[in-house]
Amino acid sequence: MTTRVLPATPENIALAADVLRGGGLVAFPTETVYGLGANALDPAAVARIFAAKERPATDPLIVHLSDADRLHQVARAVSPLDRALVETFWPGPLTLVLPKQPQVPAQVTAGLDTVAVRVPDHPVALALLAAAAVPVAAPSANRFGRTSPTTAQHVWHDLHDRIDLILDGGPTPVGVESTVVDASVSPVRILRPGGIPAEMVEAVVGPVTVVESRFGDEEGLPSPGLLKTHYAPQAELVFCQGPGARRALLVELETALQAGRRVGVLALDEDAAVLEQAGAVVYRLGDDLKSVARHLYAGMRWLDAQGVDLILARDVGGSGLGLAIRDRLTRAATRVVTTA
Ligand code: AMP
Ligand code: MG
Repeated sequence: MTTRVLPATPENIALAADVLRGGGLVAFPTETVYGLGANALDPAAVARIFAAKERPATDPLIVHLSDADRLHQVARAVSPLDRALVETFWPGPLTLVLPKQPQVPAQVTAGLDTVAVRVPDHPVALALLAAAAVPVAAPSANRFGRTSPTTAQHVWHDLHDRIDLILDGGPTPVGVESTVVDASVSPVRILRPGGIPAEMVEAVVGPVTVVESRFGDEEGLPSPGLLKTHYAPQAELVFCQGPGARRALLVELETALQAGRRVGVLALDEDAAVLEQAGAVVYRLGDDLKSVARHLYAGMRWLDAQGVDLILARDVGGSGLGLAIRDRLTRAATRVVTTA
C-alpha cells in the first residue's frame, strides 16, 4: 500500500474522514503527538492499527471524540467527578477511563469492560473527528515500543506503506501523550502522567495517586500497556536522576567518550555549551518544562539520525510537566543512574 502524505487542508481532512469511514487508517496531528486513527466501532479497521504498529493486542487504545456530547456513544456511565474533569480539561490532553458501551469492540479495550476516551485540543484532529462522525481509536502513530511521533515525517519514517494517509499539520505543540485518569477509585488515580499536570487534576478532584514507572519494573502494572522500554530510541539511553544528576551526566559523557563512543545529549539550554565543549552531540530541549516536553521525542529521533551510540539525559524534576517527562525518560532508558 502506498501511504499518501497530505497537508491538512479542509479538502484533505474531508478525504481523510472518508478513508476513516471506509475502514482505512489515517495518521493525524493532535496537541500531544500524532495519532494513528481508525473507526473505533469497526473491529476490522481497529485490527489494522495493531498490525501496522506491531502492537500487542493486550494494549488498549484511546478513543477520540470530536465533542464531549458524544461520550454516550462509547461510555456507559459518567460520574459527577468524571463530568467535572471533562468540563475542566476537554478538549485537552486528559484521557478518562470509563465503563464501556457494548458496541465498543473488545479489540479497542483489549477485552476490558472500560474504555479510555478523550477529546483532543487540535484544530485538525477536531475537524477530522467531526467530519468522520464516528469515534476514532487512535494510539500514537509509531511502531510499538518506539519514540512517539511529533511530526508527519516521524510517522512516515515508522509507518509508510502500512497506512493509507498521513495528514501533515506541523509539529505537535504539547509533545508528550495525554494524562490517563481513573476517577472511579478513591483517591482518583493517574494511570499515566501526561500533558495535564497532576497538580491541575488535583485542583479539580482533590489529592490523587500517581502510578509512577520505576525503572526495570514490569510486574503488576495496573494499566495494560504500561510496559518498560516504551518510547525508546534506537541508541542506548542513560537517564541521570537525583541531586547529583548534572554531575553524573558529565561523568557518563567523559567515560563514554574515552571509550570511543559517539554520545548524544538531550540537553537543557543551560547545559548545552559545556556539553558541546566536552565533545557531545547536543540536542537543545529549551529551558522550561513546556519546551522540554515539546522537543523530547524529536530530540531522541534526531540523535538517532546522527548515529550516536549513547544518549544521555538528566531529570527535570517531578512537578508540573516534569512528571510526564521523567516517566517517558525512565521508560526509554536502558539504564538509570540515581544520585544521592
Ligand atoms: P497510546 O494510545 O499508545 O497513547 O496508549 C494508550 C494507553 O492508555 C494504554 O497503553 C494504556 O496504558 C492506557 N489505557 C487505554 N485504555 C485503558 C483502559 N481501559 N484502562 C486502563 N488504561 C487504559
Ligand atoms: Mg503509544
